[in-house]
Amino acid sequence: MDEFELIKTIFHPLQHPAGEGDKSADSFLMKIGDDAAVWKGQGNLAFSIDTLVEGVHFTPDIPPKDLGYRVLAVNLSDLAAMSATPQFFTLAITLPSCQSEWLKLFALGMKELVDQYQIPLVGGDTTKGPLTITIQAHGLTANPVYRSGAQVGDDVYVSGCLGDAAAGLKLWLDGIRNPDSSDQCYLIERFHRPTPRIELGEALATVATAMLDVSDGLVADLSHVATASQCAIELDAGKLPLSESLLKAVDQNQAKTWALSGGDDYELAFTVPSSQRDVLKQISEELGVSLTRIGSVKSPGNANKNNANKNLVNVINGPEAIKTSGYNHFA
Ligand code: ADP
Ligand code: MG
Repeated sequence: MDEFELIKTIFHPLQHPAGEGDKSADSFLMKIGDDAAVWKGQGNLAFSIDTLVEGVHFTPDIPPKDLGYRVLAVNLSDLAAMSATPQFFTLAITLPSCQSEWLKLFALGMKELVDQYQIPLVGGDTTKGPLTITIQAHGLTANPVYRSGAQVGDDVYVSGCLGDAAAGLKLWLDGIRNPDSSDQCYLIERFHRPTPRIELGEALATVATAMLDVSDGLVADLSHVATASQCAIELDAGKLPLSESLLKAVDQNQAKTWALSGGDDYELAFTVPSSQRDVLKQISEELGVSLTRIGSVKSPGNANKNNANKNLVNVINGPEAIKTSGYNHFA
């Protein structure tokens, strides 16, 4: 396959989400095939771009289908964190060679989310070089939730479970390729196939005061909320949602450490006025997503002076040493 055949056979089919009928058809005058895509435009457009580089963000032997799923999922997660509904995405891919079997599986992984969230691929770029994948995802949001809105006294919540992706990554890096238990399988899958919490992000649009997705690690990410909101955050490590699979794999201390600083879970962390607890319970039940209250928002004066993380996120009942800063590419 050359560049143009590749675009035609692999990427063209991702223009048309299957299932509910292609709802995006009406919003586009042009998708793939011209010098640019043309969208009619409507409402507040939230868009976010993420690059995944082989050897930095994924290992060379990640199954291509999982890679396709993962690159789109992490971008959708950013839309979820803005309380946005996915609309369309673009894809810039740099490939060392054109391996059609690998590419078909890669596209199949993306297709799962294209169909699930009715988000078509509308354009991109294809080049030769070290494997690098960049996706820009676009969504509409009537009420964007920023990092800056947390108020003193708010509760701090997180969705799902934390630490699973870090445990899965560890298993994968230890060379586990054929997991010997459903627990190992689950943990590796949480790393390779994170769940973008789109429906939850939408439901929290008018409930959450601040929100982000946990990509670098809970403490590191929440420090961004604290900085943007000019507040401090106190987390109770005793309340962290830890999965049974994680607790079977490692001791409490390691589980908590990964939950606080592991990253890659792509759960939503958010702040909410404590008057909204019943509303959250209802959202959790309706969506079938667990929501756990793990802390509260404090005034910055209350921050722990010994905390390395600019004194803004204080963890109580936690393991001694936790990494408080996230991954930093040029540190
Ligand atoms: P140009 O040379 O004008 O930049 P290209 O030849 O790079 O155009 O691309 C031709 C068409 O194919 C464009 O509409 C572009 O958006 C689309 N395209 C190229 N690569 C991808 C990709 N990886 N995913 C989706 N669309 C792509
Ligand atoms: Mg052109």
